[in-house]
Amino acid sequence: MNGLTAAAVRAEAARIGFVACGFATLEPSRRADALEAWLAKGYAGTMGYLPRQAKKRRNPASITPGARSAVVVLDNYAAPRGERPREGDRFRIASYARGMDYHIVTHGRLHRLSEWLKAQGAGLAHTWIDDSPVPERELAERAGLGWIGKNTMLIHPRIGSFTVIGTVFTDLVFDEPVTPVADHCGTCTRCIDACPTDAIVDVRVLDATRCISYLTIEHKQDPAPGLAARFSGFAFGCDICNDVCPWNVRFAKPTTVAEFEDRDDPDRSDPVVFEQMTEAEFQARFADTPLARPGLERMRRNVRLAVASRGE
Ligand code: SF4
Ligand code: SF4
Repeated sequence: MNGLTAAAVRAEAARIGFVACGFATLEPSRRADALEAWLAKGYAGTMGYLPRQAKKRRNPASITPGARSAVVVLDNYAAPRGERPREGDRFRIASYARGMDYHIVTHGRLHRLSEWLKAQGAGLAHTWIDDSPVPERELAERAGLGWIGKNTMLIHPRIGSFTVIGTVFTDLVFDEPVTPVADHCGTCTRCIDACPTDAIVDVRVLDATRCISYLTIEHKQDPAPGLAARFSGFAFGCDICNDVCPWNVRFAKPTTVAEFEDRDDPDRSDPVVFEQMTEAEFQARFADTPLARPGLERMRRNVRLAVASRGE
């Protein structure tokens, strides 16, 4: 038993700038069988790391030896204009990718939280951000930070779903009862209806191989023309199933994290912005952004497909 209270951790997380903070136990995943079924259907596409991570995901306690709980935080990246394109834009970039990469931004903020936890007596405070077997959405749900919506996103009832989930696995435990958030999707099907590629094939079941985010970021081969034609102008990622969600329409507030703000680079009104760019220039401008993951060659392809998908 440590003397550090949940309220003190929550206050520090807020001071760093996280919009929500909760505490999750590391008991076995209740969604592991659903993940196995999802993988068996081939919905992960070429994301080979997902089946490799499945065993650890099943048992979060095995991810960081010695950890007894996870501090779970949400970092808000919501854009002021949501996913709506601006006048004159010829292609779109998902809102989380218009500024600095959250792997850098949120990791830096999580590191501050972990150092603080260690200063308060934690023997272990290991940070994880979207590059690990951590079942972040399930832990966030377990920590009382929201429910997993039909679009598979974590939805906080007063913040929405434009958030990055970060975790700190620690040997501390916090004796605070968690009030689970009920599933508020109800009869709504807006995300399923709005998905341009019909990628949400069932409630909370996403066929990633049909999802614009997967096809523009993870998938190296050219997407099938029938899917590319439905990219709705997106050259990187897609916000549609988040943007139509009533919980975002009502509650999402623009981020106050300066690094997440829109850099307006690349110029989304220029359909050939990447065509003349050298690799060195691309690296200089985008190495610290999510666009570095697909890289210059695939961003050229993605913009061509995105512009064509708008019928231009
Ligand atoms: S991100 Fe876009 S393509 Fe993927 S499921 Fe959501 S709406 Fe569909
Ligand atoms: S759009 Fe509706 S169904 Fe989809 S996640 Fe939001 S509330 Fe749930």
